[in-house]
Amino acid sequence: MANKSDPMVIVPEHALIAHKLTRLRDKETSSVLFRNLAREITQILMVEATRDLSTTPDERETPLSPFTGATLEPRIGIVPILRAGLGMSDVAHEMLPMARVLHVGLFRDEETLEPVYYYDKLPTPPNVDLALVVDPMLATGGSAIAAISRLKETGIKDIRFIGLIAAPEGVDALRSAHPDVAIWLASVDDRLNEVGYILPGLGDAGDRIMDT
Ligand code: URA
Repeated sequence: MANKSDPMVIVPEHALIAHKLTRLRDKETSSVLFRNLAREITQILMVEATRDLSTTPDERETPLSPFTGATLEPRIGIVPILRAGLGMSDVAHEMLPMARVLHVGLFRDEETLEPVYYYDKLPTPPNVDLALVVDPMLATGGSAIAAISRLKETGIKDIRFIGLIAAPEGVDALRSAHPDVAIWLASVDDRLNEVGYILPGLGDAGDRIMDT
């Protein structure tokens, strides 16, 4: 169950994350505050998940002197898993305004358990080098696994997953299906309950973000 020493699963130990996550989980937290907290935790995880991106030297001048700066090299795509992923993708896009936002709309057929794509306009060959897949809750992992498979089909090589809370079952499933995909999380919780919710979790992230 979710190997704690797996270098591809990064759960930063950070006082701000611990503080904000506590309030995010709290059932008394309003939808407005919930959205803000989700955004703030996403920002911290985004900083971690993009730490090693390649840059090219960028020659510019300050008002006083020339300097060599840096410009991010990869073309980046942000991929929210609908619908709750929208609560993370806006702030990710604000941090990376040059990024594209890619949508893979899918649901799982209850009978065949196969993903059914209801919106899929990903270009082949891809127009990004790196895809940051965002979904607050990594529960069974089914949607993330299917979306990542689809992104890979188009030829995207560097794919990273950023979530807020995961169940160990979801981490294991995603690691097995896509061992090359690193995962950034604010917390790996205890387990899934019998209806697929994460415990202790925070309830339904989509409902809490959208106030539905
Ligand atoms: N999706 C949610 O919104 N919450 C869970 O606990 C699991 C999946």
